[in-house]
Amino acid sequence: MENTLLKVNRERLLETLKVSSSIGPSGNGGMNRLALSDADKNMRDIFVDWLKEAGLDVRIDDFGNIYGRRKGKRDDGPSVAIGSHLDTQPCGGKYDGILGVLSALEVIRVLNENDIETEYPVEVINFTNEEGARFSPPMLGSGGITGNFSKDFIYGIKDDEGISFEQALNEINYSGSIQNRITNVKNFIELHIEQGPILHEKDITIGIVQGIQGNDLYTVKVTGKTNHAGPTPMENRRDALVAASKMIVKVNEITDEVQGLKTTVGKVNVTPNVTNVIPGEVEFTIDIRHEDNDLRSHAFERLKEQLSAIALMSEVELTITTDWNSETTLFSSVVKDAIQEAADEFGYSKMDLFSGPGHDAKYMAGVSDTGMIFVPSVDGISHNEQELTIDDDIEKGANVLLHVVQKLAEV
Ligand SMILES: [Zn+2]
Repeated sequence: MENTLLKVNRERLLETLKVSSSIGPSGNGGMNRLALSDADKNMRDIFVDWLKEAGLDVRIDDFGNIYGRRKGKRDDGPSVAIGSHLDTQPCGGKYDGILGVLSALEVIRVLNENDIETEYPVEVINFTNEEGARFSPPMLGSGGITGNFSKDFIYGIKDDEGISFEQALNEINYSGSIQNRITNVKNFIELHIEQGPILHEKDITIGIVQGIQGNDLYTVKVTGKTNHAGPTPMENRRDALVAASKMIVKVNEITDEVQGLKTTVGKVNVTPNVTNVIPGEVEFTIDIRHEDNDLRSHAFERLKEQLSAIALMSEVELTITTDWNSETTLFSSVVKDAIQEAADEFGYSKMDLFSGPGHDAKYMAGVSDTGMIFVPSVDGISHNEQELTIDDDIEKGANVLLHVVQKLAEV
């Protein structure tokens, strides 16, 4: 294994990341590079130049996903794909998915300068609109090519200004051909920052991502009776907000019953939301996550019983609608093993963990053996201008990606 300790060029990778940070900065050390914006176009243009300089065949598909392909000895064989996304949140960080795309480019540069010919082709990918900040839902580029969303649906989504995805794609000149979508993928590997505190707290460098936690989203509507705050005696009230508050506490407490369960009420609307009127209607959301699909749905069933009991006692009506059900995605053991081996070869600390947030790898897992490498986020901060992954961890994560590519592009 003569290439065992081949490493990325740390300075070059950091410099590439620095160039990215200068395109669409938010002004407070972070990024504001929304999907298909002018800043995104500038970044894409430079990225395409970099791919070409690295000798890659560049293609753009009909969702604006960018691919750079490096030939393999068996060029008609399936490819090993690596990448993530270059778009950011409006007050986002410099690393997020950017790290995965630019590290993928660095992997190609290292293979090139060492004249390494892989058995299978290697493709670098930048997926469009992973963040979902401008066009909701997230992960449209990867979701589109894997059949999770139809082209009509994606093209019709509008941003807050009423501009459609299709229009925005045309405006920045990144509307390519359906023929350019990636097909015949052997593996997809995404390097990403953890976006949570686990690796940082445990002082571990490499996260071997086991999969992406399932996540269900519900809207709860509590209907009571609006009345004047002055004359209405307390015992005659059907206060929707008081009932909803008791329910929200239950949503939080259910996590005591199931290890690893995470629940969040992130949004509450009170009607009429007036100081001297008893609230007649409250809507709130429940975001519920756990990697075990059965545990998650059983926990929700129990929660529903508890909320119904509160509704009965409070004489309010309760309706719960399902906004979103997403099953847990499990990653390929072939990729997880390759990540583990690579971390061991370098002597990097490592651990298994699940991803809370979704990633492009979630959809790619439906069409290929997929996995993710996580590196620490300082204090677990992400989607924030203060987001930070230290240089040593960037280098180590990219080294692991390089070795995983070398392994998987051979077998
Ligand atoms: Zn991301």
